[in-house]
Amino acid sequence: MLYNATNGIVEIENGNMDFISFGNGDKVLIMIPGLSDGLKTVKGMAKVMAMMYKCYAKSHKVYVISRKNNLEKGYSTRDMAADYKAACEKLSVTKADVFGVSQGGMIAQYLAIDYPELVEKLVLAVTLSKQNETVEKVVSSWIKMAEKNDYNSLFIDTAEKSYTEKRLRKYRPLYPLLSKIGKPKSFNRFIIQANACITHNAYDELDKIKCPTLVIGGDSDKVTGPGTSEEIAGKIKNSKLIIYKGLGHSMYEEAKDFNTKVMEFISSIRLRPHHLLCTQSYSGKGYDNNFTENMTAITNRLRNDDNTTVDIVFSTDDICSKCPRMIEVDLCESNEKVKRLDEKVVAYFEIAEKRYLYQDIIREINAKMTSEIMDDICSECEWYPYCQTLKP
Ligand code: SF4
Repeated sequence: MLYNATNGIVEIENGNMDFISFGNGDKVLIMIPGLSDGLKTVKGMAKVMAMMYKCYAKSHKVYVISRKNNLEKGYSTRDMAADYKAACEKLSVTKADVFGVSQGGMIAQYLAIDYPELVEKLVLAVTLSKQNETVEKVVSSWIKMAEKNDYNSLFIDTAEKSYTEKRLRKYRPLYPLLSKIGKPKSFNRFIIQANACITHNAYDELDKIKCPTLVIGGDSDKVTGPGTSEEIAGKIKNSKLIIYKGLGHSMYEEAKDFNTKVMEFISSIRLRPHHLLCTQSYSGKGYDNNFTENMTAITNRLRNDDNTTVDIVFSTDDICSKCPRMIEVDLCESNEKVKRLDEKVVAYFEIAEKRYLYQDIIREINAKMTSEIMDDICSECEWYPYCQTLKP
């Protein structure tokens, strides 16, 4: 079957949610769609979505999950996040990369805030964290169109506000046809979701998000308004920001390298410099189960997949993120000591804060390593007795 593409429905305590899944990877990716989910859920879309997002299928098992089917009036993005957490539990997903688009990004913010143990890496695309004049005006007008049962206007206005002029020149001739298909039997679900969009306000809590986060948007977004991605990235310390110039709310469809950028972010491993040494000598011992489980998974990938890339960061990294000694981003209980180790590794092996192929950089380090250098870098580390067999 095509990437194991499967349609499903997951029962949660207060309802059920349509989902599709595909992919064969060891990791899990949860994708949360935008407001269009209020018009049509992902039901029956498994094969189409597996083709659209096949680039994620090798490294991840991907779940695209709709909001629950019977949304109650007044349901908030935070309530929806609680449903996604419940769905993950039912699907036996305990850890996942989470990728939310538009309203999906709002829900993803609350997943990372309220259930940090679930979210490994977070991708927030074309979304916002608090209200502004543009989104209130645009989404309120969509609610009015839906209340009047006017799908034609809703379809056209959504397209006009989302796509670039170049894409619209292709789409406009198709409006008469496209605006006649896809009309839902009821707009209730859409209206509830749209109201949740214009009451979403996670801004003040964004600094609770500690996992690595990619914030990605367009500088011409006529739905969210300007500067919303920058606003989010400014509040999440451990974030990376990508802004596409000239693209708007459908940037994730129009930017040719969008999925490549997301894939690079979620598949690359972030390592602080001295962990280039620890990942070679690690033998399964660590601070606690959570730590060793994570470090074992990371070292297995680094050692067994020759194509694994690492992003060197002069800060806490993907190993620190599951360490009981990490206090917050860029702050370890032994900060002075670990920073000293990092600085020595940088100086001896000329390591820069950039992306490397792990096997290449390890070869370069090992070519320069001597017993004296290793003693100088590692002798104050409590784990050094376990690394003696690796000494040159
Ligand atoms: S002890 Fe500090 S540097 Fe080492 S993994 Fe834990 S948080 Fe990171």
